[in-house]
Order: sequence, then C-alpha cells, then structure tokens
Amino acid sequence: MQYYSTRSKNDPVSFAKAALTGLAPDGGLYIPGDVPRLSSAVKSSLAHMEYIDIAFEIIKPWVTEDIPSGVLEEMLISSYPFDAPVVEAGGRYVLELFHGPTAAFKDFGARFMARAFSYLRRGEDKALTILTATSGDTGGAVADGFFGIDGISVIVLYPKGRISYLQEKQIAGLGKNIIALAVEGSFDDCQRLVKQAFKDQDLQKKFNLASANSINVSRLIPQIVYYAAACGRVSTKPLFSVPSGNFGNLTAGLYAYKMGAPIQKFIAATNINKTIPDYLETGNYIEQLSKATLSNAMDVGAPSNFERINAHFSWEELKEIIFGMYVSDEETRETIKEVYKTGYCLDPHSAVGWQAATKLEQKGVIDNENTVIVSTAHPAKFGETLEELGIHVALPASLEKAMQRTAQSNTIKAEFEALKSQLS
Ligand SMILES: *Cc1c(COP(=O)(O)O)cnc(C)c1O
Repeated sequence: MQYYSTRSKNDPVSFAKAALTGLAPDGGLYIPGDVPRLSSAVKSSLAHMEYIDIAFEIIKPWVTEDIPSGVLEEMLISSYPFDAPVVEAGGRYVLELFHGPTAAFKDFGARFMARAFSYLRRGEDKALTILTATSGDTGGAVADGFFGIDGISVIVLYPKGRISYLQEKQIAGLGKNIIALAVEGSFDDCQRLVKQAFKDQDLQKKFNLASANSINVSRLIPQIVYYAAACGRVSTKPLFSVPSGNFGNLTAGLYAYKMGAPIQKFIAATNINKTIPDYLETGNYIEQLSKATLSNAMDVGAPSNFERINAHFSWEELKEIIFGMYVSDEETRETIKEVYKTGYCLDPHSAVGWQAATKLEQKGVIDNENTVIVSTAHPAKFGETLEELGIHVALPASLEKAMQRTAQSNTIKAEFEALKSQLS
C-alpha cells in the first residue's frame, strides 16, 4: 500500500515513512492510495471474531510491506489487553472505548502507534522526538503509550488551565522521556505551534521530529477496527454517533465504511465548535477560533482531519453519509442527568454524541433502532463536571494510579520562539 499527501499525488511513500514523518513535506496529511476492502469472509464473520483477530484483518493490508504478520500479531496482542464492548444503556447501544489505561478512546491509536514506531525504528541510533498538541486526552494516551520506550522522547503541548486535573496528571506526571509544556492559549495555539515546528527545517533536523496527533496515519488505522468490530455486535446496520473534535475518530469510521464494513451512516456530533456541522449544512468550510466547553477534548475550531476527509469525499458525497449536529453545554449537562436516571453514566463527550442523536431523532431524521453512541471517555475522567451535577463516579484502577502522580510541566507563551527555546 502506498500513501500520498492530501496535496499531491506525486510522491508516494510507504507506511513506515508516512507514520514516522506524520505530516507530508508539502504540509499535507498522508492518505492511502487505495483503501483496501474487507473480504466477504471477514465481513460475514465479524460477529464471531475476537477483537484482536478483527484488528489483524483490518490493519494487515495497510501495513503489510513494513510489518510482517507475526510482528503485527504480537503488536496487537500487547496493544489491546482490553476490549471495545457494545453495551445497552437507556434504550440505546453504546460502544465503550474507554477500557484502556488512560480511560479514553485514544489508547486504541496511541498504543498501536507506539509499538509500530518502536518496531519501524529498530536499529536506528538517532533519537526521535515526538511533538504533539493535545486538547486533553491525546497527550495522556501518547505519553502512556511511549513511556519508557528507548530512543524516543515525547513533548506534549497542552492548553494551560483548559484540561482536567486528571488529564494534566496523565500528561505531566510520568516524567522520564515524557516532557509536558503548558501553553498559555487554546488547543488551536498548541496545534499551530506544533505545525510551525514541523515546518522549521533546523528543528526538524536537530530533533528528528515526528508527530503523534490524529494527523498521524498510524494512529488512525487502528481506530478503524472498533467500528468494524461493533458492526458484528449489534443486530442492525449501525449508525454511529461520533463525538468529534479533530475528526480523527470519525475519519477512521469513514475508512471502515470505505473498507466495506456494514455501516449505515454517521453523526458528526460536536459541541459549539461546530465547523463541520456547519460545513455539512452549507458546503462552506470556515475555520473558527475554538471556544472552551465542558467537552474540552472536542474544543477544536479548525479540525485537522478535515483535509483528509475532504480529499476522499466531496461535500455532496459526505452529506449522504454524515449527519451533522451540535450540542450546547447546557444540553450536555441535561443529557448526563437524564441518562444517569436510567442507570448509565456518560462523560461530557459521550453525552454530546448521545444528545446529537436525540436531536436528530426529534427532528425525525433518524430512528433509534440503529444508533450506536460512540463513548469516547470514562465518566470518572471528568469527575469535576459530574460532581457539579451531583453525580459521583468512582475512579477505575488505571486512573486511581494516575491520580497519585505529581504533575510537572513548564509554562510557555503561545509563541513559536517560546517553544523553540524549550527545545534547544
Ligand atoms: C479526542 C477526543 C475526542 C475527539 O476525537 P477526535 O478524533 O479529535 O474527533 C472526543 N472525546 C474524547 C473523550 C476525546 O479524548
């Protein structure tokens, strides 16, 4: 399989190259030349297959020239000692993606990416620096995935004061090869700084920079798996409601769809940072400054994966596959309270996915039967928000452990020079 930049079809690269460089030299994102198709044998067996086996079938064609089958199998076994169960709650299906070590779906991408990097770089002696911006959960998942891996250090930029106490501990509490920078600005500022660093030839060379954001194709590919697996775990062709920010998760869903997984449609569920729902409605893509909300990992006004989505689908095509819907903070709070009464606790991000589906049902656009809410985080991760609503959730063991760490980060201004001086 060959990968191309979203901006040019001229320079195909391997999976290894696409993964290790992250962003194409022309500033584009790597996309596959041809999206592989699932065999009909696999499609008809999804309901009976183990998660790891589905993962193998899905990921294999994307990496086949660079990762031998036996190695891939080992990687998958060590990446996913946890599952992506579909549960029934409050009259709906919920795809729970928060059973990994940092209790958010980003573990699915980050754990595979860390192992892939480590393998693809075997025998290299020049150290690699992973530079990544986070709106909250990426940082924790990437830090956890790469923690203690020889020859790779990770620098995480996060918007100071805009992530939860626990998220900060997950990012800044590990130490060793994980460096945390608190940026005085928004997530978009963090992302801009990272993009700028990648454009800076001197820095690139000196630090051998790589990215770990959802712009990195090695993080995206393993996220295709849980969509396909979920198809085998529900009784009808699912309509996935995907709480979205940078749109990596939904892009992976679209790849699952392109691979032929039996998916009906998607909901692009956002908070008031509704650049994509607006695009779906009007056909005009207008980047916005991000606004702070309760679902902070989705506070993205200029979703980086839009470029990828746009390279694969025209607006007309996209409108056939995706409904857009946004949800306010007030609606998010109400949703958490209402669903809690039925005995299920949603985190603020998953609540956006839930309520977006409800709003579309109320408009008569969709029915309830096929809806699968993609739950992106464990509610305990956002304990502060839930406490304000009078809901107390116990921490799962993984988060309990993170809570005991002490966060240590350097604060920097949202300026490129400030980042540069931290690096050198
Ligand atoms: C990152 C994140 C999102 C948004 O995912 P994207 O792939 O950026 O769209 C949603 N919910 C949670 C909990 C997250 O951590």
